[in-house]
Amino acid sequence: MKSRKFLIAGNWKMNKTASDGVDLIKDIVAAVGPQTEVDVAVCPPFTGLESASKALEGSAIKLGAQNMHPKASGAFTGEISAEMLRSLFASYVILGHSERRQYFGETDAFINEKVTAALKNLLKPILCIGETLQERESGKTLDVVKTQLEGGLAGVDASNAVNIVLAYEPVWAIGTGKVATTEQAQEVHAFIRGWLATRFDKAVAGKMRILYGGSMKPSNAPELLAQEDIDGGLIGGASLEAKSFVDLVKAAMSAG
Ligand code: PEP
Repeated sequence: MKSRKFLIAGNWKMNKTASDGVDLIKDIVAAVGPQTEVDVAVCPPFTGLESASKALEGSAIKLGAQNMHPKASGAFTGEISAEMLRSLFASYVILGHSERRQYFGETDAFINEKVTAALKNLLKPILCIGETLQERESGKTLDVVKTQLEGGLAGVDASNAVNIVLAYEPVWAIGTGKVATTEQAQEVHAFIRGWLATRFDKAVAGKMRILYGGSMKPSNAPELLAQEDIDGGLIGGASLEAKSFVDLVKAAMSAG
């Protein structure tokens, strides 16, 4: 029995219109039911957040966003603030996803501003970290992860750290069908937990959830979720269909 509650979070990325999202949520809510054994969240695109929030009313499934701007308001065309997300009853926000880092040039310093703003607004950041294939092949995985942790969590104190979820997502495993082996994933998760124990303390590190992300699906989830330091999944492709997403929630229920 794990001391940390599993979290299965769906990152829909740039998929689903608002009404398609509501249909998907209805199917997920019906299949998952009122269970609270596993935390479950869906993260639609911005345009689907409000209707998703309404569709989730009365269920135990939480709402998350995929990004936000660190500033509270102002001249930031195209951006969304933490306060705006809170007003739609979002609980989580994915920050520092590798696609944001790669295609939108997000740096650890900028991501750190977002982490700070999210916490201030009582949103739980899901902070994504992970190495590219080239970095793994040149033996730099743990250095890269350490740099991203140091940068992303700069200035965060222990009382806030417990509200942060980390997601280890090897970039080479995202959307590629290539999943990290359980040993590869557990090695990095254990390294992250050790780093957290040094940065905060052992008790805090023991409470923080570290998700795995990268081609997780019902077939490979049981083995990954059985690892000591893997506390759930951030799910891309397999979160776009009710059956595969619900099967992942069930896998977490069985692994708990
Ligand atoms: C992701 O983008 O966070 C992700 C894990 O995607 P996929 O499951 O499709 O690899």
